Amino acid sequence: MSVADNIKRIREDIMTTCYKYNRDPNKVRLLAVSKTVPVGLINEAYTAGQIAFGESRVQEFLIKYQTYPEFNWHFIGHLQTNKINKVISTDFVLQSVDSLSLAEKLNQRLEEQKKSLKVLLQVNIDGDPAKFGFSPAGLWQNIEKILELKRLNVSGLMTIGALKQSSKEARSSFAKLFLLKEALEEATKHNFSELSMGMSSDYKEAIAEGATIVRVGTAIFGKR
Ligand SMILES: *Cc1c(COP(=O)(O)O)cnc(C)c1O
Repeated sequence: MSVADNIKRIREDIMTTCYKYNRDPNKVRLLAVSKTVPVGLINEAYTAGQIAFGESRVQEFLIKYQTYPEFNWHFIGHLQTNKINKVISTDFVLQSVDSLSLAEKLNQRLEEQKKSLKVLLQVNIDGDPAKFGFSPAGLWQNIEKILELKRLNVSGLMTIGALKQSSKEARSSFAKLFLLKEALEEATKHNFSELSMGMSSDYKEAIAEGATIVRVGTAIFGKR
Protein backbone atom coordinates (compact mmCIF):
# COMPACT_ATOMS: atom_id res chain seq x y z
CA MET A 1 0.00 0.00 0.00
CA SER A 2 1.30 3.45 -0.90
CA VAL A 3 1.09 6.50 1.33
CA ALA A 4 -1.61 7.86 -0.98
CA ASP A 5 -3.65 4.62 -0.69
CA ASN A 6 -3.32 4.69 3.09
CA ILE A 7 -4.50 8.28 3.31
CA LYS A 8 -7.45 7.56 1.04
CA ARG A 9 -8.45 4.54 3.13
CA ILE A 10 -8.12 6.40 6.43
CA ARG A 11 -10.15 9.34 5.13
CA GLU A 12 -12.88 6.88 4.10
CA ASP A 13 -12.74 5.24 7.52
CA ILE A 14 -13.05 8.63 9.19
CA MET A 15 -16.15 9.37 7.06
CA THR A 16 -17.76 6.02 7.80
CA THR A 17 -17.05 6.36 11.50
CA CYS A 18 -18.52 9.87 11.54
CA TYR A 19 -21.75 8.65 9.96
CA LYS A 20 -21.92 5.71 12.34
CA TYR A 21 -21.63 7.95 15.40
CA ASN A 22 -23.54 10.98 14.14
CA ARG A 23 -20.48 13.17 13.88
CA ASP A 24 -20.04 15.91 11.28
CA PRO A 25 -17.13 14.72 9.05
CA ASN A 26 -16.08 18.34 8.58
CA LYS A 27 -15.37 18.50 12.32
CA VAL A 28 -12.76 15.73 12.28
CA ARG A 29 -9.34 16.54 10.87
CA LEU A 30 -6.59 14.09 10.03
CA LEU A 31 -3.13 15.05 11.28
CA ALA A 32 -0.40 13.03 9.56
CA VAL A 33 2.27 12.28 12.15
CA SER A 34 5.49 12.42 10.16
CA LYS A 35 8.11 11.99 12.90
CA THR A 36 11.10 9.96 11.60
CA VAL A 37 9.51 9.94 8.12
CA PRO A 38 11.76 11.17 5.28
CA VAL A 39 10.63 14.22 3.31
CA GLY A 40 10.05 12.12 0.19
CA LEU A 41 7.17 10.30 1.87
CA ILE A 42 5.86 13.53 3.37
CA ASN A 43 5.73 14.89 -0.15
CA GLU A 44 3.72 11.84 -1.25
CA ALA A 45 1.21 12.58 1.49
CA TYR A 46 1.00 16.21 0.43
CA THR A 47 0.43 15.19 -3.18
CA ALA A 48 -2.44 13.01 -1.91
CA GLY A 49 -4.05 16.12 -0.44
CA GLN A 50 -2.70 15.98 3.11
CA ILE A 51 -1.84 19.42 4.48
CA ALA A 52 -1.61 19.02 8.29
CA PHE A 53 1.46 17.29 9.73
CA GLY A 54 2.65 16.57 13.26
CA GLU A 55 6.18 16.33 14.61
CA SER A 56 7.44 15.56 18.10
CA ARG A 57 11.14 16.49 18.16
CA VAL A 58 12.31 20.09 17.92
CA GLN A 59 15.29 19.61 15.62
CA GLU A 60 13.41 17.42 13.17
CA PHE A 61 10.37 19.68 13.27
CA LEU A 62 12.46 22.73 12.34
CA ILE A 63 14.12 21.00 9.39
CA LYS A 64 10.79 19.83 7.99
CA TYR A 65 9.14 23.15 8.71
CA GLN A 66 11.84 24.92 6.71
CA THR A 67 11.38 22.43 3.87
CA TYR A 68 7.59 22.86 3.79
CA PRO A 69 6.71 26.14 5.51
CA GLU A 70 3.31 26.21 3.77
CA PHE A 71 1.99 23.07 5.53
CA ASN A 72 -0.09 23.22 8.71
CA TRP A 73 2.42 22.08 11.30
CA HIS A 74 1.52 20.80 14.75
CA PHE A 75 4.05 20.05 17.45
CA ILE A 76 2.88 17.06 19.50
CA GLY A 77 5.91 16.14 21.62
CA HIS A 78 7.16 17.33 24.98
CA LEU A 79 8.64 20.82 24.55
CA GLN A 80 11.44 21.56 27.00
CA THR A 81 11.36 25.17 28.17
CA ASN A 82 14.97 25.67 27.03
CA LYS A 83 13.85 24.93 23.44
CA ILE A 84 11.11 27.57 23.35
CA ASN A 85 13.35 30.09 21.60
CA LYS A 86 14.04 27.67 18.77
CA VAL A 87 10.39 27.27 17.82
CA ILE A 88 8.81 30.55 18.86
CA SER A 89 9.15 32.30 15.50
CA THR A 90 7.64 29.44 13.49
CA ASP A 91 3.98 29.26 12.52
CA PHE A 92 2.51 26.19 14.16
CA VAL A 93 0.00 24.74 16.62
CA LEU A 94 1.44 23.49 19.90
CA GLN A 95 -0.68 20.52 20.98
CA SER A 96 1.42 19.62 23.98
CA VAL A 97 1.34 22.34 26.62
CA ASP A 98 1.84 20.02 29.58
CA SER A 99 2.68 22.28 32.55
CA LEU A 100 1.90 25.70 33.97
CA SER A 101 5.56 26.61 33.83
CA LEU A 102 5.77 25.87 30.09
CA ALA A 103 2.59 27.90 29.52
CA GLU A 104 3.96 30.87 31.46
CA LYS A 105 7.35 30.83 29.75
CA LEU A 106 5.73 30.57 26.31
CA ASN A 107 3.46 33.47 27.11
CA GLN A 108 6.40 35.59 28.20
CA ARG A 109 8.39 34.95 25.02
CA LEU A 110 5.30 35.52 22.86
CA GLU A 111 4.67 38.78 24.67
CA GLU A 112 8.18 39.95 23.82
CA GLN A 113 7.59 39.08 20.17
CA LYS A 114 4.06 40.53 20.12
CA LYS A 115 2.79 37.20 18.78
CA SER A 116 0.20 34.70 19.85
CA LEU A 117 0.13 30.92 19.57
CA LYS A 118 -2.67 28.40 19.20
CA VAL A 119 -2.20 25.70 21.82
CA LEU A 120 -3.90 22.62 23.22
CA LEU A 121 -3.41 21.48 26.80
CA GLN A 122 -2.10 17.94 27.08
CA VAL A 123 -3.91 15.82 29.64
CA ASN A 124 -2.58 12.59 31.10
CA ILE A 125 -6.10 11.27 31.36
CA ASP A 126 -5.25 7.79 32.68
CA GLY A 127 -2.56 8.94 35.13
CA ASP A 128 0.16 7.01 33.29
CA PRO A 129 3.51 7.78 35.04
CA ALA A 130 5.33 7.38 31.69
CA LYS A 131 3.37 10.18 30.01
CA PHE A 132 3.57 13.96 30.13
CA GLY A 133 0.50 16.08 30.64
CA PHE A 134 -1.68 17.64 33.31
CA SER A 135 -3.55 15.27 35.55
CA PRO A 136 -7.24 16.22 35.53
CA ALA A 137 -6.82 17.56 39.10
CA GLY A 138 -3.72 19.52 38.07
CA LEU A 139 -5.60 21.04 35.17
CA TRP A 140 -8.44 22.15 37.43
CA GLN A 141 -5.87 23.75 39.76
CA ASN A 142 -4.15 25.69 36.99
CA ILE A 143 -6.79 26.40 34.39
CA GLU A 144 -7.68 29.92 35.55
CA LYS A 145 -4.02 30.96 35.52
CA ILE A 146 -3.50 29.44 32.07
CA LEU A 147 -6.55 31.18 30.60
CA GLU A 148 -5.17 34.50 31.85
CA LEU A 149 -2.09 34.09 29.64
CA LYS A 150 -3.26 36.35 26.84
CA ARG A 151 -0.72 35.29 24.21
CA LEU A 152 -1.92 31.69 24.29
CA ASN A 153 -5.04 30.86 22.29
CA VAL A 154 -6.12 27.83 24.26
CA SER A 155 -8.27 25.93 21.78
CA GLY A 156 -8.77 22.58 23.45
CA LEU A 157 -7.30 19.43 24.94
CA MET A 158 -5.01 16.67 23.72
CA THR A 159 -4.42 13.22 25.12
CA ILE A 160 -2.62 10.00 24.28
CA GLY A 161 -4.96 7.10 24.99
CA ALA A 162 -3.69 4.17 27.01
CA LEU A 163 -2.86 1.05 25.04
CA LYS A 164 -5.93 -1.04 25.64
CA GLN A 165 -6.96 -4.64 25.04
CA SER A 166 -10.34 -3.83 23.56
CA SER A 167 -11.94 -0.99 21.70
CA LYS A 168 -14.38 -0.55 24.60
CA GLU A 169 -11.48 0.11 26.94
CA ALA A 170 -9.86 2.50 24.46
CA ARG A 171 -13.08 4.48 24.30
CA SER A 172 -13.16 4.97 28.06
CA SER A 173 -10.01 7.20 28.06
CA PHE A 174 -11.45 9.31 25.28
CA ALA A 175 -14.85 9.51 26.97
CA LYS A 176 -13.10 10.80 30.10
CA LEU A 177 -11.36 13.54 28.12
CA PHE A 178 -14.66 14.54 26.54
CA LEU A 179 -16.34 14.84 29.94
CA LEU A 180 -13.41 16.85 31.28
CA LYS A 181 -13.73 19.25 28.35
CA GLU A 182 -17.47 19.67 28.97
CA ALA A 183 -16.90 20.34 32.67
CA LEU A 184 -14.11 22.84 31.97
CA GLU A 185 -16.29 24.72 29.50
CA GLU A 186 -19.11 24.84 32.01
CA ALA A 187 -16.84 26.11 34.80
CA THR A 188 -14.73 28.61 32.85
CA LYS A 189 -17.10 29.67 30.03
CA HIS A 190 -14.09 29.23 27.76
CA ASN A 191 -14.46 27.33 24.49
CA PHE A 192 -12.30 24.19 24.35
CA SER A 193 -13.51 23.18 20.93
CA GLU A 194 -10.57 21.01 19.83
CA LEU A 195 -10.17 17.47 21.16
CA SER A 196 -7.00 15.90 19.78
CA MET A 197 -7.20 12.18 20.52
CA GLY A 198 -6.80 8.89 18.71
CA MET A 199 -3.81 7.43 16.84
CA SER A 200 -3.36 4.62 14.27
CA SER A 201 -4.77 1.91 16.52
CA ASP A 202 -7.66 3.81 18.08
CA TYR A 203 -8.73 6.78 15.97
CA LYS A 204 -12.19 5.32 15.30
CA GLU A 205 -12.83 4.96 19.03
CA ALA A 206 -11.65 8.54 19.52
CA ILE A 207 -14.02 9.82 16.83
CA ALA A 208 -16.87 7.95 18.50
CA GLU A 209 -16.09 9.93 21.68
CA GLY A 210 -15.78 13.35 20.07
CA ALA A 211 -12.26 13.76 18.61
CA THR A 212 -11.86 16.77 16.32
CA ILE A 213 -8.23 15.94 15.43
CA VAL A 214 -6.87 12.40 15.04
CA ARG A 215 -3.08 11.99 14.95
CA VAL A 216 -2.12 9.13 12.66
CA GLY A 217 1.44 8.07 11.86
CA THR A 218 2.02 4.34 11.37
CA ALA A 219 -1.22 3.70 9.44
CA ILE A 220 -0.14 6.31 6.87
CA PHE A 221 3.63 5.92 6.63
CA GLY A 222 4.20 2.38 7.89
CA LYS A 223 6.19 1.18 10.90
CA ARG A 224 8.82 3.57 12.30
C1 LIG B 1 3.84 9.14 17.36
C2 LIG B 1 2.63 9.84 17.85
C3 LIG B 1 1.37 9.65 17.24
C4 LIG B 1 1.13 8.69 16.08
O1 LIG B 1 1.17 7.39 16.52
P1 LIG B 1 0.84 6.16 15.51
O2 LIG B 1 0.54 5.04 16.41
O3 LIG B 1 2.07 5.95 14.69
O4 LIG B 1 -0.32 6.58 14.68
C5 LIG B 1 0.29 10.36 17.74
N1 LIG B 1 0.43 11.22 18.78
C6 LIG B 1 1.61 11.42 19.38
C7 LIG B 1 1.67 12.38 20.51
C8 LIG B 1 2.74 10.74 18.95
O5 LIG B 1 3.90 10.95 19.58
